[in-house]
Amino acid sequence: MSETVLLVGGGGREHAIARALAPDCALYAAASNRNPGIIRLADGFETISETDAEALVDYAEEVGATLAIVGPESGLQAGVADALDEAGIYTFGPQSEEARIETDKAFQRRFMQDNDIPGCPVFETFEDMEAACDYIDDSEIDLAVKPAGLTGGKGVKVIGDQVDKEGAKEYIRSENYDRVVLEERFVGEEFTLQAFVADGDLRTTPAVQDHKRAYEGDEGPNTGGMGSYSDTGFELPFMGEGDYEDAVEILEATVEAMPDYKGILYGQFMLTSQGPKVIEYNARFGDPEAMNTLPVLNTPFIDVLTAARDGEELPELEFSGEATVCKYAVPAGYPTDPDSGAKIAVDEETVGEGLLFYASVDERDDGLYTTTSRSFAVVGLADSIAAAEEIAEEALAAAGDGLRIRHDIGKADLVQQRVDHMAELRG
Ligand code: AMP
Repeated sequence: MSETVLLVGGGGREHAIARALAPDCALYAAASNRNPGIIRLADGFETISETDAEALVDYAEEVGATLAIVGPESGLQAGVADALDEAGIYTFGPQSEEARIETDKAFQRRFMQDNDIPGCPVFETFEDMEAACDYIDDSEIDLAVKPAGLTGGKGVKVIGDQVDKEGAKEYIRSENYDRVVLEERFVGEEFTLQAFVADGDLRTTPAVQDHKRAYEGDEGPNTGGMGSYSDTGFELPFMGEGDYEDAVEILEATVEAMPDYKGILYGQFMLTSQGPKVIEYNARFGDPEAMNTLPVLNTPFIDVLTAARDGEELPELEFSGEATVCKYAVPAGYPTDPDSGAKIAVDEETVGEGLLFYASVDERDDGLYTTTSRSFAVVGLADSIAAAEEIAEEALAAAGDGLRIRHDIGKADLVQQRVDHMAELRG
């Protein structure tokens, strides 16, 4: 075990990264919250803010880190990868300039347009909010309203879906955003495609579908993600021939236009009747999607990191071929009015065949309690989505009171609805 890795971040995503790396390296972790799952897997843990580049470099140097990986976008935006790279600790994550592909949606769309990357919507960026409102009034198509900066996936309002034109204008006028992007609304089914990237090369992983809406049946406000599933192959059941490859081509074109990009490139796509379109890019793993992807990756994740650092070709990835279903347990009232302080009853013993990933929990003398963020996730792996879903549900049987779960994620009905929706759109 010659590598020593610093992992930055303390959510479910980072717990999945820790689980993938821990068997093959010395692992040290730093985050603003204490994640008991990560702490148990790591050789050391320090409470450090994910955006405190200086303190993270100090800790990395203290433990003799030979590699680093940054989980959350806030750290990438704050230049944590820049600072670690500068200190000679190769970080599998983009520097702040490349991370703008996620952290600045106006930059992201301009970048796509300037580089002729397929799948870009018609869009305009506004600093004058009244001009944005006029554009909404004059538009003959439905638009998505996006603040240009980071909002944890919760700042977007889609006209014709969540709001009408008046609601969108009220939203723009009531928030104090510096810049908003108004863009063509895409209609279809969303999916995530995550790739490992270094030196202009990329390796893609199976497509995943996240569920952003808070309540069952895709109702309620957007959240950080309530759960997700993937199938036994690279495609999802609603995807047709060539859709996955089309999305890969879009990521390839993206990487070609950003030769210095390194780390995880996450494409959020809308599969429309015209093929995949880009909803957004993220510059790191998705949370929950990391919990679908890493448990089925048979190739040691450390081999990806070392190849990237050493300028070698990235390894061809091998996957177990299992379907996955991930479900988050969140505090009652999340995300608008979350109620913290509920006892979490689940643990590694009670989850049976399922995997347990902690997110934000409050560790007290007598056990774990909810905070105001997502609490923990369980993941089922099996030879079909339906069987993986059952494993996830069995794992949740002992979750505890005061938690909310979208039980519909991964169930046959909801998966079939996606398939029917796509079939209807494609005529
Ligand atoms: P984002 O923060 O860009 O991922 O947006 C959050 C959510 O808003 C996405 O997951 C989509 O459901 C929705 N959304 C964003 N952009 C568009 C678009 N151009 N058309 C339709 N829906 C969108």
